[in-house]
Amino acid sequence: MKQGKVIIISAPSGCGKSTIIGALMERGNVDLEFSVSATNRAPRAGERDGVNYHFLTDRQFRDKIAQGAFVEYEEVYPGRFYGTLSSELDERCRAGHNVILDIDVKGGVNVKRMLGDEAISIFIMPPSVEELRRRLEGRATDSADAIAERVGKAEYEISFAPEFDKVVVNDDLSQAISETEALIIGFVNA
Ligand code: ADP
Ligand code: 5GP
Repeated sequence: MKQGKVIIISAPSGCGKSTIIGALMERGNVDLEFSVSATNRAPRAGERDGVNYHFLTDRQFRDKIAQGAFVEYEEVYPGRFYGTLSSELDERCRAGHNVILDIDVKGGVNVKRMLGDEAISIFIMPPSVEELRRRLEGRATDSADAIAERVGKAEYEISFAPEFDKVVVNDDLSQAISETEALIIGFVNA
């Protein structure tokens, strides 16, 4: 059986990763399974354990690190850890499914380095940092401080875009979804 591939979607927070991934999975034009990351941050309203994230305590997260359970993990914000579990990738790829990852920019660069041709890395670019701020405010899931933290980090993260295989500008959402889908279909069928 053909081994499944890994699709890495990275961008600064608020650029539309989750929206684009959700739309691609809903369209169902390509076989994609979502890699549920582990995090020690608290769930937001509406988020479900095991669906959006595996929500762990600080202690549980540290234990997973010690057990070598992560392909990669990052302290994306001070004290807040996020990691990709090997268990989310291995079995599914072996069974021939493609796995899609929503991970931060550094994690995206690292996983691509590890997996080489088995993965495609796609950077979702905001039309501008100002528009990114408006979207985070519109999403209304983060405090003013958290929004300032995320916007502050965005400019630094955008400087990593040239390290990705492909860059998609998320200005018009439906166009960004179609562009991302076309890149993924081209990659998994290659
Ligand atoms: P991320 O997963 O990268 O943090 P989200 O997918 O949560 O980002 O998107 C952040 C906010 O921006 C959401 O409220 C989403 O509905 C909105 N959004 C995403 N793409 C667009 C777009 N092209 N135009 C306008 N709003 C968008
Ligand atoms: P949020 O708190 O908004 O859900 O996510 C914050 C950031 O953490 C986003 O950039 C998201 O892509 C990233 N992230 C989520 N899961 C992982 C992961 O497993 N590894 C890494 N490195 N980053 C992740």
